[in-house]
Amino acid sequence: MKLGLAAGAAGLIPTALKASSPGASASHKGAKLVLLGTKGGPRVGGSRSNPANALVVDDAVYVIDMGMGVTAQFVKAGLDYKQIRGLFISHLHSDHELEFGNLVYNDWVTNSLTKPLNAYGPVGIEEMIKNYWALNKDDINTRIADEGRVDPRDLLIGHDMPFTKHVVMQDDHVRVSALPTPHKPLQNFAYRFDTPYGSVVYSGDTSFYPPLAEFAKGADVLVHEVLYVPGVDALTKRVNGGEDFRNHIINAHTTTEQVGQIAAMAGVKKLVLSHFVPGDMSWITDDMWREGVAKHYKGEIVVGRDLQEIPLS
Ligand SMILES: [Zn+2]
Ligand SMILES: [Zn+2]
Repeated sequence: MKLGLAAGAAGLIPTALKASSPGASASHKGAKLVLLGTKGGPRVGGSRSNPANALVVDDAVYVIDMGMGVTAQFVKAGLDYKQIRGLFISHLHSDHELEFGNLVYNDWVTNSLTKPLNAYGPVGIEEMIKNYWALNKDDINTRIADEGRVDPRDLLIGHDMPFTKHVVMQDDHVRVSALPTPHKPLQNFAYRFDTPYGSVVYSGDTSFYPPLAEFAKGADVLVHEVLYVPGVDALTKRVNGGEDFRNHIINAHTTTEQVGQIAAMAGVKKLVLSHFVPGDMSWITDDMWREGVAKHYKGEIVVGRDLQEIPLS
C-alpha cells in the first residue's frame, strides 16, 4: 500500500513520510481507522454511538469528531489517551463536538495529558475551549491544588481554521489537509490523512459535493456520511416534521446514490459508510444502505459499525 500511496497521491506525501524510519521505537507498526460512533445526529440511542473516529498510525492516535459517547467508545476500542497526537472537528453541529472537552478532560484526569495537544476545527473552537474550562473551573482548580496536577488549560491549544482548502498539520506520522464543504446552514471541513501506509479521507457532514471527489482522489479509504431517503421520510413522520424538516435534512446531507457517485469519481479503493441518517432504525438493512451506492460505485463498500477497525495496508 505504501507504493500505491506514493503513486496515487504524488506530491501530497512529504518525503519524510514515504519511508518509515528504521530507528523508530514504535511497538505497533501500521495504520487503521477505528469507527467509534457511526450514527448521524445528536440524539443518543439505538445501536450506534454518535459520530467519532480514531486514526491510529503506528503508536499515534488522531481523533476525528467527538460526539456524545466518544470517551467511552475510545476506552472500549482499547485506545490509550497517552497516544493522542491531534484532535480534528469537522463542524460545529453538536453530534460532532459535544464531548470534545470531556475527552480532553479524561486525557488530563488520567495523567496522560502531559504535552501540548492541538485541536483543529472551524472558527469557534478556541472560544469553545475557553468556555469549557470556565464551565469546569471549580473541579479543575481543586484538582490542581489538591492533587498536584498540571494545569490542562496550558496544554490544549485550539486552532480556528479559515474555510479554505489547506494543509492543517504534519508530523512524523501523518499529513492532514482540510477541504471546506457545504452543509447548510454551516460549513464543514472534510479531512484527508496521508500516512506512510495509505490515505484516508473523512467527509464530515456534507451535501453532495463533487470537489470532495477530487480531494479524495486515489485515497485508499473514503469514509463518507450517508442518508437513506425512505428512512428520512419515516423520521419526518416520527417527529411530526413537515416538508421543511425533511428538505433541510436531505439538502444538508448526501444520499446513498450520491455517495456512490462521489466514491466512483474519486476512484477510492474502499468506501466506508458512516454517519447514518437515520441511524437508529433497525428496519434499514445493510443491503438497503448499499443498494443506491452500488449503482455507481463498483469498489468495496463497508457499511460501518461502531468499533469496527478498517486496516490501512
Ligand atoms: Zn452530523
Ligand atoms: Zn452536521
